[in-house]
Amino acid sequence: MFNWNDFVQVLASANIEFEHLKVAQLAQAILESGWGKSDLFKLHANPFGMKYRQEVHNAVPVEYEAHDGKDIYCEFATLEDAVKGYWIFIDRPVNQGWRDNSATPEDFIRFIAFAGYVGGPFDGTVASRLRKEKYISKVLNLIPDARKLLENAGSSPIETPIWKKKGVMLEVGHGPNPNGQESGADGFNGVHEYDLNWIAAKAAKKVLDEAGIPCVITDFGGVNNGGLYDIGKTAADYDVFCSIHHNSFDDDVEQGAEVLVHKTKGDAEDLDLSSMMSAEIAEELGIVDRIANGRDPGLKLGVLSGAEDTNVRVSVLAELYFIHIPVPDTKDWSTRGGEAVARAIMKWLRKTL
Ligand SMILES: [Zn+2]
Repeated sequence: MFNWNDFVQVLASANIEFEHLKVAQLAQAILESGWGKSDLFKLHANPFGMKYRQEVHNAVPVEYEAHDGKDIYCEFATLEDAVKGYWIFIDRPVNQGWRDNSATPEDFIRFIAFAGYVGGPFDGTVASRLRKEKYISKVLNLIPDARKLLENAGSSPIETPIWKKKGVMLEVGHGPNPNGQESGADGFNGVHEYDLNWIAAKAAKKVLDEAGIPCVITDFGGVNNGGLYDIGKTAADYDVFCSIHHNSFDDDVEQGAEVLVHKTKGDAEDLDLSSMMSAEIAEELGIVDRIANGRDPGLKLGVLSGAEDTNVRVSVLAELYFIHIPVPDTKDWSTRGGEAVARAIMKWLRKTL
């Protein structure tokens, strides 16, 4: 017989991809198992009411009669398997896109409900919509209980998310555009800026992923001759938009970092992130912080113009370092510069909580 308190304990200490979604997972378990009272949970370690699907490779099929009739469900050997099995179940193709809809427990539950967690995929009918909305509101009503249970079982206190909207969008500077492809500035060693921008964006995303902060990388190139402006417009609904670049100059200049904002549309918050990020990159790479040293961060940049015309909270454009000046290892520098970008973003998010 499986025990409900054991299950809560196992879930509380489990390592899952998005810690902030544990409350959603537990709220569903409360609803589906009636606080652990269902036989499906007690006998078969399945508190989630998950029907058997072959992709859930750590489960075996078991016939079970629920309130809506007999069906084949997942049976797990252990509660640890059940917690893992849930995420394997979620990661099936039918739920494709769930990671982009996981900024909050509500976004997540709404997405998987419409994708088919309850009553199959949304079929466009009013009945189908009502069934899903009813399920969503039942689960959401249980989130405070789930939060309390997890906190009491508390291996680690559940941190309130530090983002308020969809999280972070990192834009890879240059690359595809309406007229083809463009590789940005050329480095001292023949390397292209565009390739370094990708290295930095991936490094930044890794840091944000590890902190559980939703982050997407975009390499969208715009749809018409207002290309850059279009790119900026994709910042809508995000907390932070950061366009990632590397600098180049045809004159003598000291190696340094700078983070720019839109000259007329940028506000105090954009400027704040600009100076925090510029400082973080400069310190990481041991180079000059050009913003702290009097460089005006305001420029009329098309990509930031588009971003500022959305409801994004802040938008900046980071120039990590000058690639026409030799550095020991461009890959290493761009990786560390990208990580510094992520750290600055997290500091800003915490500061503006
Ligand atoms: Zn550039």
